[in-house]
Amino acid sequence: MSKENTCLPEKSCGSCDTAESCDSQSQQRHMEERLTEKLSSIKHRVVVMSGKGGVGKSTVAANLAVALADGGHRVGILDGDVHGPNIPKMLGLEGASPQGGPTGLQPLEASVNLKVMSMAFLLPNSDTPVAWRGPMKHTLFQQFLSDVDWGELDYLIVDLPPGTGDEAMSIAQILGSPLWSIIVTTPQDVALLDSRKSVVFAKSVDMNILGMIENMSGLTCPHCAEKIDLFKTGGGERAAQELMVPFLGAIPIDPNLVLAGDAGIPIANLDSSSKVAEIFRELAATTDRVVKNGKGPLQNAAADNLSQIETERRSRYMLSKTVAVPSMHPGGLDAARSGHFGHCDAFTLVNVENGEIRDVSIVHNPPHQQGGCQAPVNLLHQNRADALIVGGIGMRPLMGFRQVGIDVYYGPEGETVGAVIDHLLNGRLELIQENQVCGGGQF
Ligand code: ADP
Repeated sequence: MSKENTCLPEKSCGSCDTAESCDSQSQQRHMEERLTEKLSSIKHRVVVMSGKGGVGKSTVAANLAVALADGGHRVGILDGDVHGPNIPKMLGLEGASPQGGPTGLQPLEASVNLKVMSMAFLLPNSDTPVAWRGPMKHTLFQQFLSDVDWGELDYLIVDLPPGTGDEAMSIAQILGSPLWSIIVTTPQDVALLDSRKSVVFAKSVDMNILGMIENMSGLTCPHCAEKIDLFKTGGGERAAQELMVPFLGAIPIDPNLVLAGDAGIPIANLDSSSKVAEIFRELAATTDRVVKNGKGPLQNAAADNLSQIETERRSRYMLSKTVAVPSMHPGGLDAARSGHFGHCDAFTLVNVENGEIRDVSIVHNPPHQQGGCQAPVNLLHQNRADALIVGGIGMRPLMGFRQVGIDVYYGPEGETVGAVIDHLLNGRLELIQENQVCGGGQF
């Protein structure tokens, strides 16, 4: 009888008494069999990736895993960052070490439904650098899946290191299809460049793109509650639109997230009523719904997700927003809207919450002065508008509105204010892109 016939599929070579007498080919074959076996016990696989480091990818991966586990799913999180593993610290498992067992290495448990594995558990201390090349990391990932006793999982979340290097390639290859990806970005325009690479990479290795999420999206001043767009805002949404992937939402800057990460306490446990904790619960719900429904080739899946998530997100996006519509005097929902926001009599400000109109007010527009395209920007910013619906706009004012965090949508002419708001709430309006502006700086 050959050696491989004596292998028990659930037993890893590390825990097998006779493994030393197996040749390396048999060991490799056995490892691949175990890998297939282990992967068959994992229902859904999701990688969290970003174009560059420091954008909050591990924060999103850890909190998504926690939110899914809190929602009753059996979740594993694999820290794919071999050189800078942070997941154990974020989940309160720093310094822990896994025990071996007859069915493989036992992952650490962050909670009853959440198992964790990371290179950090295998290092003597957190200062130990890892200088491994691609093939070693590939073998490590194979073993993290084949030799770790994950048990039955509903979700395996993988926190990839930034970029599209060896680790991302290996994980995509090992986990196979269907594999879903969430791309984390920040609001700056430069983030678009990095995100584009992640999207192209994901498509090239046949990952289904669940969507893009904008992190560090504005800060609410703890003293006056004014929103400060430290890194601008809306870049992630524009990037998602441009790259034709679903936009999953925006996470504001929240100092509690840093405290939570450093203390190893998920934000859901530190402050379950916070806006950020709520956003992670929504992200988990969206992930669960889309991943369970999503089938078929990437393009179809991405297109389906896009319409499904976009429709829901747009109404959620309107949870609490003030939308400005240039209008004829005296304004209000029945007023005719004006196509020219620079020359309009007034702006009707419509406050919407949960997809419904809560309040309507009017702000008069001072007489337009030639070249004064900053005046309406300042006026609407002072009046805390989040969105503006126009019939057309020049590049300069478009940039001006974006810089103060006002999204600019194109709305068809000849309708009332109420009608265009209805279009917006039902996801029928598009954000204006740079290539759709009117000539020069006009508006
Ligand atoms: P990455 O995995 O992309 O390198 P991390 O998730 O490690 O990024 O986040 C980097 C730092 O930024 C951490 O200290 C984390 O707590 C902090 N951070 C992430 N997202 C936010 C946020 N929305 N608000 C405040 N701090 C954040």
